[in-house]
Amino acid sequence: MSKRVGIIGAGVSGLAAIWCCLEEGLEPTCFERNNDVGGLWKFSDHTEEGRASIYQSEFTNSSKEMMCFPDFPYPDDYPNYRHHGNLQEYIKTFGQKKDLLRYIQFETLVSSIKKCPSFLVTGQWVVVIEKDGKQGSTIFDAVMICSGHHIYPNLPTDSFPGNYLHSQDYKDLEAFKGKRVLVMGLGNSGCDTAVSSAVIISTRSGSWVMSRVWDDGYPWDMVFLRKEPVFNDELPSRILCGTVSIKPSVKAFTETSAVFEDGTMFEAIKSIIFATGYDYSYPFLDETIIKSRNNEVTLFKGIFPPLMEKPTLAVIDSYTLPTTNEMMADYITYMDELGSFIGAKPNIPWLFLTDPHLWDGARNAILTQWNRTVKPTRKRVVSEAQRPHPFYNLLKMLSFPLLLLAVTLTFY
Ligand SMILES: Cc1cc2nc3c(=O)[nH]c(=O)nc-3n(C[C@H](O)[C@H](O)[C@H](O)COP(=O)(O)OP(=O)(O)OC[C@H]3O[C@@H](n4cnc5c(N)ncnc54)[C@H](O)[C@@H]3O)c2cc1C
Repeated sequence: MSKRVGIIGAGVSGLAAIWCCLEEGLEPTCFERNNDVGGLWKFSDHTEEGRASIYQSEFTNSSKEMMCFPDFPYPDDYPNYRHHGNLQEYIKTFGQKKDLLRYIQFETLVSSIKKCPSFLVTGQWVVVIEKDGKQGSTIFDAVMICSGHHIYPNLPTDSFPGNYLHSQDYKDLEAFKGKRVLVMGLGNSGCDTAVSSAVIISTRSGSWVMSRVWDDGYPWDMVFLRKEPVFNDELPSRILCGTVSIKPSVKAFTETSAVFEDGTMFEAIKSIIFATGYDYSYPFLDETIIKSRNNEVTLFKGIFPPLMEKPTLAVIDSYTLPTTNEMMADYITYMDELGSFIGAKPNIPWLFLTDPHLWDGARNAILTQWNRTVKPTRKRVVSEAQRPHPFYNLLKMLSFPLLLLAVTLTFY
């Protein structure tokens, strides 16, 4: 009999989890509190408890080739960075084409997950659900938690006495246009929020702000194969034009103003938007199963609770990126490492000998990725596009250190 796997959440991670279970001959059942797939990317014009949310004009920060399901590339004429509606459509089409939706129980809340009394022997879990006001429970051989980690806003308690909100509740950028707004935090949400109003951004440690577009119009993350630090195409010019200013941390708030650590003040504040991120929380799990300290959860590779007697519970997409350095860590290396752990990292020459059909599919997906990247940008074809050469990029990055070395050697 195949093993039964309970999956919590039908966002990107939940759908990928259902698909993987089916490929491994497991029997998945997915519970989704909402009435549709997509999770975070299913837009709602109001904030719903226990659900991540985005704003009306949200675009992705990762390009389509870095953010697609393997074996399901985006259509080549899709733009490289997508509006949330476009991404939600892609996620839903993936679910439909792979026939995953029938494994999902919608409008079903998972209220608790507990170890079975026989856990030490079986590794099984009891998943308690709530649907239409009724409770039920099911025993699973394993559980995959795909409930997302942009759900519980981190809202500082010593807040401003006036009007404030968390970036999660920020739905319509127009509402703040031209107003005196203070944005706390220089992450992606903070930057997006800031460029729509006349604002001050307060940041403790600063951040690298990158443009989505790299040389020759290529997506940044396709050239460097990394997950981005902070992306914003408009912020640098807003700062140059003076409509956005950057300040250090806030030392104190008064009734209507903020005093920064450098002694300067921002007065007559209309609103404060806390783009201060999210707290990790798994309210359906006992705290002893996943420990959280200073908002960092103890999970091996961001996936497995390390002290579990049986490794039958996994958290999907909970990889924390707390510092800038760690955020700059190579995304592909991390994915390769995970692939190697489970024996899924393809050895292309070996695949050619053992499974020519799969080899051909993989080869085709890799060789056509630049076509899919270039196509949506070529509305008016002028000449053959040049693919950026990795050696050229490396040379460009090394040019300053090399110059420095040459100068040092010349003078010493
Ligand atoms: C503003 C913003 C922009 C982002 N932009 C990007 C980007 O450009 N590129 C990128 O790679 N990542 C981005 N991310 C990260 C984002 O988290 C991932 O892209 C992805 O959506 C995470 O998918 P998920 O399935 O893990 O979680 P979610 O999309 O949050 O889905 C979780 C699902 O679980 C359900 N659920 C939760 N609890 C329960 C429960 N108790 N019972 C039943 N169902 C439950 C929820 O209803 C939801 O449908 C962004 C995040 C934010 C907040």
